[in-house]
Amino acid sequence: MSGEEIFDVIIVGGGAAGLTAGIYSSRARLSTLILNEGAVGGQMVLTEEIANYPGVESTKGFMLANTMKMQAKSFGCKIRSNVKIRSYKLESEIKKIGLEDGREFMGRTVILSPGGRPRSLDIPGENEFKGSGISYCATCDGEFFSGKQVIVVGGGNSALEEAVALTQHAENVTIVHQFDHFQAFQHAVEQAKNNPKIDFIMESELRSLSGNGVLQEVSMEHLPTGEISHKSIDGVFIFAGYIPNTEDLTEVVDLNERHEIIVDAAMKTNIPGVFAAGDCIAKRYRQVTTAVADGTIASLSAAEYIRS
Ligand SMILES: Cc1cc2nc3c(=O)[nH]c(=O)nc-3n(C[C@H](O)[C@H](O)[C@H](O)COP(=O)(O)OP(=O)(O)OC[C@H]3O[C@@H](n4cnc5c(N)ncnc54)[C@H](O)[C@@H]3O)c2cc1C
Repeated sequence: MSGEEIFDVIIVGGGAAGLTAGIYSSRARLSTLILNEGAVGGQMVLTEEIANYPGVESTKGFMLANTMKMQAKSFGCKIRSNVKIRSYKLESEIKKIGLEDGREFMGRTVILSPGGRPRSLDIPGENEFKGSGISYCATCDGEFFSGKQVIVVGGGNSALEEAVALTQHAENVTIVHQFDHFQAFQHAVEQAKNNPKIDFIMESELRSLSGNGVLQEVSMEHLPTGEISHKSIDGVFIFAGYIPNTEDLTEVVDLNERHEIIVDAAMKTNIPGVFAAGDCIAKRYRQVTTAVADGTIASLSAAEYIRS
């Protein structure tokens, strides 16, 4: 597939934004290639239940991801997963993307949609107990904590919704949040508050994690008083925001101070023919619906660019 073929659209990242751009572009009969670093689907695959995607009452995240992938493929979109991108040459009319294995792909337009990843707390013990008590994905690891005591860190939608999902497995879930109120939507807060297996420690932050081979104890600080307390625990799930996957793009397109890609309302970056979509762009709300919308706009803008 590499070599002389020039794609109309090359999409970097196969999450909700990239797959949507793939659906729109290939359905418009533009030759389209998605290059994805990990497994296709992105953060949707990490989400136990998606209950706010319009037209779909409730679905497992991996199922929504798989449906999008099949839809894109059915229109002729080519998808290459588990690739590692080494270089971007995007300034000229024909854009070139090189992979670590030496292959190079050419495209008339490029849509960047590499998404983001969970932010870590950067506290002592976090790295040591990753995979043996610390997790960033309830869907992936929840079942390992059947009948156990777990902490969920965070106060946004992901934290509260995943805490509720974790009660299917854990005996008890304690939500630890740094503020005295939650940033999540009201219905997510109510669902968590009405769940008898969930309790709350507010205005507090974890300070360290300790154990003997596996996580056994956390220490936390009550922020208003500075008081340090200790709690025995089997698992900690961290939902403390996200980091955009734009490390490789710092010299490629304009980013803001939070390392998010700067785009206009048409999803155009500062480089002609290069667009961006999804969680990687500078915006306020990060949801599947907003990623899908961005992917749609980026694809339509890419088509317009090619026509002109
Ligand atoms: C735990 C959790 C629960 C959530 N719950 C919900 C919910 O209930 N409802 C909702 O609407 N939203 C929810 N969200 C948010 C939603 O999942 C995201 O906003 C949305 O999926 C982002 O899509 P995206 O395509 O922009 O990015 P991503 O899903 O992050 O996809 C990006 C893709 O790009 C790939 N990639 C990264 N870097 C590169 C690279 N250099 N080269 C090639 N590929 C690359 C990644 O492997 C990934 O597959 C949740 C998120 C999390 C983490």
